[in-house]
Amino acid sequence: MSKDARNKDLELSPAEKKQFDELVALLAKRGFGEEGPPRETAFAQIEQFGHQAGQMVARAIDARLAEQHATHFVGEEPCPTCGEKHLPNESPHNLELQTEDGEVKLREPAFHCPPCERDFFPSTHPVAD
Ligand SMILES: [Zn+2]
Repeated sequence: MSKDARNKDLELSPAEKKQFDELVALLAKRGFGEEGPPRETAFAQIEQFGHQAGQMVARAIDARLAEQHATHFVGEEPCPTCGEKHLPNESPHNLELQTEDGEVKLREPAFHCPPCERDFFPSTHPVAD
């Protein structure tokens, strides 16, 4: 199991590691209080909480990175069908994406090509479809 990708930690600087440890302490406290899990706690309960907290963190990272990534799509983008360039719509498309860690709500830049009568979303679908 040592080659399991789940065991691959990110490399963090000492300052980042300190902040990471603080986040872990904050979430652990949220789950089991200041004193930690009571004596009768089964490890499975600890593991279940850790997994829930981890998925929450994963969803937040997904949403943050997708929001940052979306800022690249403020100008004209080519229609995947005809190649004609269009500016993004005034309102982004609200998308509820199902990920391995649960539902992530995104606001993806939306484009419309009148000649092709199609919408396109180059931030989440970079390859023509
Ligand atoms: Zn088109």
